[in-house]
Amino acid sequence: MATFQNEQNNEKSKKSVAVIGAGYTGLTIAYRLAQKGCRVTIFDKENEVGGLAAGFRLDGVPLEKIWHFLYLSDSYALDLAEELGVRDKLIFHDSTVSTYYDGKVYPFMSAKDLLLFKPLSFINRVRTGAVGVYLKLIKNWQPLTKITAYEWMKKYAGKQATEVIWKPLLEGKFGAYYDKVIMSWLWGRIKVRVDSKESSGEKLGYFNGGFGVFTNALADKIQEQGGEIKLNTSIKKIISANNKVTIITEDGEKEFDAVASTTPSNVFAELIQGGKQVKKSYLDKLKSINYVGAIVMTFSSKQKISPYYWHNVNDQKIPFIAFLANGELAGTETYQGKNIYYIGFYAEHNHSYFTEEKEKIMDEWLDGVQIMFPNFDRTQITDRALFKFKNAQHIVDLGYKSKIPAYQTPLKNVYLSNFSQIYPEDRGLNFAIRDGEKIAKMIMED
Ligand SMILES: Cc1cc2nc3c(=O)[nH]c(=O)nc-3n(C[C@H](O)[C@H](O)[C@H](O)COP(=O)(O)OP(=O)(O)OC[C@H]3O[C@@H](n4cnc5c(N)ncnc54)[C@H](O)[C@@H]3O)c2cc1C
Repeated sequence: MATFQNEQNNEKSKKSVAVIGAGYTGLTIAYRLAQKGCRVTIFDKENEVGGLAAGFRLDGVPLEKIWHFLYLSDSYALDLAEELGVRDKLIFHDSTVSTYYDGKVYPFMSAKDLLLFKPLSFINRVRTGAVGVYLKLIKNWQPLTKITAYEWMKKYAGKQATEVIWKPLLEGKFGAYYDKVIMSWLWGRIKVRVDSKESSGEKLGYFNGGFGVFTNALADKIQEQGGEIKLNTSIKKIISANNKVTIITEDGEKEFDAVASTTPSNVFAELIQGGKQVKKSYLDKLKSINYVGAIVMTFSSKQKISPYYWHNVNDQKIPFIAFLANGELAGTETYQGKNIYYIGFYAEHNHSYFTEEKEKIMDEWLDGVQIMFPNFDRTQITDRALFKFKNAQHIVDLGYKSKIPAYQTPLKNVYLSNFSQIYPEDRGLNFAIRDGEKIAKMIMED
């Protein structure tokens, strides 16, 4: 009887923490806190864990709704995979990159490819190469925060290279915000790729069995350690008072010692606004971070369409910005012998894609694939799916640093961690894991 009472008391004395969001940031926070003996509950509005990296099955093959891979330099992710016992399933493959421009696919991996890239004049090919080398050598990125990538490229790479290479890439990723993104963001993206390159070229990591192997290992460990994962539960409000934090869902409310929200900053603003618990200036700061959404299609086919994995689509006639042939990266054997393809597009929140029928978008995109690859045969498609994500990429614009919200929010015992705080690097699973670890430590220390 006494032991039972002690156990009950012990359980009560443990810090209780709610984590909002079961993406990689939320899962990592929950995992570390559960390890430290906290009573952790993760809430997610979706019906599966993983957030932007969540999985599904296409034609029976376990895949990700959005394509994902890891770099060799993603040390936080690699270490966690090791700790969870799934590192041996993560295989690094040789990547192949191409650019589709004006009706033609050009290989785009080496200095030789650049020198043979006909859409640019010879002098501009040399200039683009020199700019690439210069960017790789830059260590002090601070000055690059004061100029947009578009302006910087016009100045250093020249007008033609900007129009042919950089503007389509920036437009594809940021839509109407293409000329707002700062150069340090682009530098960060180039740096992560350079750091992960081996002398033999770029290698990208993919889990045999899909990223679900990693995600599920993490979710299982949380549950093994007593953590709870509540899916299909959308958080509507967070209220902090009297040293406790209450979260409100459609089904009622629950009190915790601390709450870590991993929702996008604009969503977090909605969760805490109302009443007098935060100043308007803080809400305005959260809302000043703009996001674009992502629309991603995937299909399986009996047909091998291209010899390259990654295709940057720098051509206005094609309605998407990236075409990926995953079999060319990881081998079709990774996908039960099937050819798996992804097509991607970033869209502003008011883009018609967010209201259009999925089937219509998929048909339109397959027309685009047909233009890119005249031998493409749609009758060989065995399955297809399309997913829409509202907050997929934040806009890193001039003065962005001052917009970044702190992990510790003005609300007592309420923490915020999402990819808009990752800076100057670009968002990614590696940094989601890094920040998740950081927040868990802060919560334990506070
Ligand atoms: C097109 C694209 C390609 C990418 N490719 C790669 C890649 O190859 N490699 C890589 O490392 N990274 C890649 N990323 C980035 C990577 O997916 C993200 O950095 C990472 O998944 C972010 O994790 P997170 O937990 O911070 O956020 P999220 O994954 O967005 O998780 C937030 C969670 O909060 C939940 N949520 C939101 N509001 C509420 C609410 N009110 N109540 C309850 N739950 C809520 C959401 O449902 C979501 O599950 C890619 C992203 C995109 C868009």
